[in-house]
Amino acid sequence: LDFLVKTDPTVATIIQQELQRQRDRVELIASENFTSAAVMAAQGCVMTNKYAEGLPGKRYYGGCEYVDLVEQLAIDRVKQLFGAAHANVQPHSGAQANFAVFLALLEPGDTIMGMDLSHGGHLTHGSPVNVSGKWFKVCNYGVSPETERLDYDQILEQARQHRPKLIICGYSAYPRIIDFEKFRAIADEVGAYLLADIAHIAGLVATGHHPSPLPYCDVVTTTTHKTLRGPRGGLIMTRDAELGKKLDKAVFPGNQGGPLEHVIAAKAVAFGEALAPEFKTYSAEVIANAQALANQLQARGLKIVSGGTDNHLMLVDLRSVNMTGKRADQLVSEINITANKNTVPFDPESPFVTSGLRLGSPAMTTRGMGTPEFQEIGNIIADRLLNPEDSAIAQNCRHRVASLCDRFPLYPHLQIPVPQ
Ligand code: PLP
Repeated sequence: LDFLVKTDPTVATIIQQELQRQRDRVELIASENFTSAAVMAAQGCVMTNKYAEGLPGKRYYGGCEYVDLVEQLAIDRVKQLFGAAHANVQPHSGAQANFAVFLALLEPGDTIMGMDLSHGGHLTHGSPVNVSGKWFKVCNYGVSPETERLDYDQILEQARQHRPKLIICGYSAYPRIIDFEKFRAIADEVGAYLLADIAHIAGLVATGHHPSPLPYCDVVTTTTHKTLRGPRGGLIMTRDAELGKKLDKAVFPGNQGGPLEHVIAAKAVAFGEALAPEFKTYSAEVIANAQALANQLQARGLKIVSGGTDNHLMLVDLRSVNMTGKRADQLVSEINITANKNTVPFDPESPFVTSGLRLGSPAMTTRGMGTPEFQEIGNIIADRLLNPEDSAIAQNCRHRVASLCDRFPLYPHLQIPVPQ
C-alpha cells in the first residue's frame, strides 16, 4: 500500500477514506462482512494477470499450471465444505451464477417460480427488470399474511397451477429456516428442477447451523461474500456430475470469459477458513447476535417481521411506529449505523420508500461483538427511531456507536500512509 500511495495518491486517499468509514460505523447490512486480511492479500495478487479460459487441466491458454492448482484447491475445499459432488468456482457474482443455471436448464419462454422481490426474493428470481423476468414467464410466491413465513401448501398449489420448469428457493430477506425437503416434494410433484440460492445463508449452511439444500436440490448457487466471509463472487454446486458438466459450460463459454483467478485464490483461502472449527463458532455467534438484536428491538416495542429470526438477519416493520424504511435508514445513518431500507411482506410503500429496515449480524460479529454489544446496538437503534426529532439523543447515540467501534477495532494492523 506504500507503493500505491506513491504511484496513485488519489486512489490511495479514497481507499484510506473507505477504510476509515468501515472502522467508524456499525455495519448492519445483512449481505456484508469483513474478509480476513489473508483473503484480501490473495485477491490483490499476481493472478489478476492471468488468462485461464476453461477449467483446471483443460485450458485454452498456456502457463496455467499455478492457477490450475489454486482453482482445483478452491473446488476441492468447497466440495468438502458443503458435501457437494461438483462445484464451479468461476462465477463472478451471485447474479452470474444464477444466470448460468438458467442458461443450463431453461429455454426462453419457460416458466420459473421464485419468491416475490417484495417478500424477500432476489432480482434474479424473476423480477421484470432482470433477465430472469424478461426471458421467462414468472410465477411468484410469497409468505403467508398471518405468519409472515413460507406457506408450503400455498406454494404447492401455485406450482400445480403454473407447472414451472424451475422452482427457486433461497432469499435475500427471509429470516426463517427454509425446508428444502418440502420444496423437493413440491418440485417432484410438478416435474420441476429445484434451485436453492443460498447467497445469504451459505456460511450457516456450511457450518450446519441451517439445514443443507444439497441432498434435495438439483443445483445450489451462492455468493461467497456474505455469511461465508470470502471475496465478492459466486459459486455453483450440484450432486449430479452430468448436470455439473452442463453448468460448467453455461459459465464458460456460456456467459463468462476468463475467470478471475485472483478472486478464485481468495475464494480458496476463504473456504479453507470456513473449514476451520473457529468458523463454526463464528456462525453460531452470528445467529445468537441476530437473535439478541431482534429480541432487544422487540422489547423496546419495535415489530420484527415473523416475530424474530432463525438466521443472521431480521426485518424491522416500521408501520407500527408510523415511519418509512427510507426515513429510518436516514436516521440510523446519521448516528453512524449502516443498514438498508427494505420492503416488508405486503408493503404498501414503493421499493424506494418501503416500510422496513433490514438488519444483519455477520459483519459486527466478525469484529468480535457478542450478545451484550448487540443488545446495546438494539437500544441505540430504538433510542434513535423512537425519538427522531431529539438532537441530544442523536448525539448520545453517536457517542455510543463510537465507543463500540473503538472497543472492537477493524483491521488494526492495516495502515495506509496518507499521501504528503
Ligand atoms: N441471490 C441472492 C439471494 C442475493 O441476496 C444476492 C445478493 O444480494 C444475489 C443472488 C446476487 O449476488 P451478487 O450481488 O453477487 O450478484
